[in-house]
Amino acid sequence: MTIREQLEQREREILAPQAALSGASRGRLRPEPEDPIRPAFQRDRDRIIHTKAFRRLKHKTQVFFSPRGDHYRTRLTHTLEVSQIARTIAKVLRLHEELTEAIALGHDLGHTPFGHAGERVLNALVPGGFNHYEQSLRIVDVLELDRRGLNLTWEVRDGIARHSKGKSGLPVGAPPDHRASTIEGQVARVADIVAYVNHDIDDAVRAGILSEDQLPREAVAVLGHGPSERIGRLVTNVVEQTLAGGVTEVRMSDDVLEAMLALRTFMFEAVYENQVATAEFAKADGILGGLWEKVRERPDDFLDPRTVEAEGLDRAAQDFLAGMTDRYAVNLFEQLYIPKPWVTVSDGPHML
Ligand code: MG
Repeated sequence: MTIREQLEQREREILAPQAALSGASRGRLRPEPEDPIRPAFQRDRDRIIHTKAFRRLKHKTQVFFSPRGDHYRTRLTHTLEVSQIARTIAKVLRLHEELTEAIALGHDLGHTPFGHAGERVLNALVPGGFNHYEQSLRIVDVLELDRRGLNLTWEVRDGIARHSKGKSGLPVGAPPDHRASTIEGQVARVADIVAYVNHDIDDAVRAGILSEDQLPREAVAVLGHGPSERIGRLVTNVVEQTLAGGVTEVRMSDDVLEAMLALRTFMFEAVYENQVATAEFAKADGILGGLWEKVRERPDDFLDPRTVEAEGLDRAAQDFLAGMTDRYAVNLFEQLYIPKPWVTVSDGPHML
């Protein structure tokens, strides 16, 4: 027995019957030899961490545009918080922790620059529309590794592809068509909301946009004061309710779910769609619109010729724009649209 086979055996012995098993994966897009020491989901987790898209999350903003403070979240730290919360839940439920982690680490890879505003702009620009979870899947399936893709397992891809969210997305209790097929994918989904609602409140308080006492009272009464207390309450509720339901799907009790959704609604009104908080993001419209035009005019300078040839100009421009970090987009826009000041020789230091 190889080391990998021993680890797969251990999964069968330890994990809950509802857990996904590396040894029983529905497989990869293209067959490939197994790793001698790492089971499939662990290998997928590692592949995601080694991508360029994962490293770019460091410079993509969550809520505030390029914040100066060192303590604001970025998409990278958001992703790590999601992963940690998801693993905590998966561990207690005896689900597959590394599958949960792989989905969590991959769930936001397709995010555009400039947060929610950037996604709205791309959705308007790209014929047929744009959403980040389809782009996340495209990154792992097609774009990474110089267009060879990561060739991930079906279970990780399913978790990433069905990670739909937004103002109206249900964190738990969504109909089967709208949720991940594995419980691990559902855990990553609920962990995302638990993470962002709480850390965004923390960041918004840090930014002076709101204070803890402005939060809806009923929600605070149910979930507690401060991010730490609330995350604890939410995670415990998910675990207890899911266990009580026999781990057939991820569950929360009605009062706790309602309180969490109330906080999310509040955050949309007070922060995500608040004009002061998103004033700089409003400029995303002009920047992404301008770049969309220019890169399609000069595809040879900017776009991947293989994508242009196989899938057309729009798809190649979509990949390029969606992949940008906030600062990359701003720099390129400056380069293409803002005239550089003229420097004459007589101004140079050697004339002094
Ligand atoms: Mg997320």
